[in-house]
Amino acid sequence: MALERLLKGFADFRLGYYREHLDLFERLAAEGQSPRILIVACADARVDPGILTQTKPGDIFTVRNVGAMVPPAQLPPDARHHGTSSAIEYAVRGLGVEHVVILGHALCGGIAALVDGKDGAFAGFDYLSTWTSIAQDVRDGVMRELQGRPREEIVRVVEQAAVVNSVGNLMTFPWIAERVKAGKLVLHAWWFNLTKGQLYALNAATAMFEPVFGVQLDAAVDKTTALSAITPDRFIAVVAGRKPAF
Ligand SMILES: [Zn+2]
Repeated sequence: MALERLLKGFADFRLGYYREHLDLFERLAAEGQSPRILIVACADARVDPGILTQTKPGDIFTVRNVGAMVPPAQLPPDARHHGTSSAIEYAVRGLGVEHVVILGHALCGGIAALVDGKDGAFAGFDYLSTWTSIAQDVRDGVMRELQGRPREEIVRVVEQAAVVNSVGNLMTFPWIAERVKAGKLVLHAWWFNLTKGQLYALNAATAMFEPVFGVQLDAAVDKTTALSAITPDRFIAVVAGRKPAF
């Protein structure tokens, strides 16, 4: 049943979208891809970046993993299989994207597993906890600073703080830091609330995620942003001091 839906969908795509965009597909096939934006998003089935942003084939280079996380750079690089880092490297060094967006989201199962830790339902899995431990310090910091606050609030703050953490980790890759400082690359920390259909972006000046309306792009991390402005600790400290608006 599930697969039949896919095949029916593909038939519809061939007869509809593909035909309507034949020129685009032919151009992309002949000239190759040249997306200007990399989006690192969660593997969650509800938050497809292409659908959320209504983009076309060729517009965005996408990496999806559990929790929309970016690990810190492994320096010097080792022989393990760095799936997310290699995709980011290809997008930044190979394709020369001008923007990197980290797109976290509400009700993230990966972040919930991280928050629940060894008491959680996925604690016995082979790879999940090692992967999400990218944001372990962030999780611990939120648990400490927001002690006593409702679990839902804690999970959401960890979701957002993990996005900030991933932006910070992006800057540990020398070829990303160089491009940001040269003004060739801008980083964005986004969080999508799927229950409200609202997108939020980190405002580095206030260390708060603020609703994005229209095409406002002020809330970005560029060459003018101090690295200290985008640390998870600063974000957590600001959130801890006030009632967050989600
Ligand atoms: Zn998720």
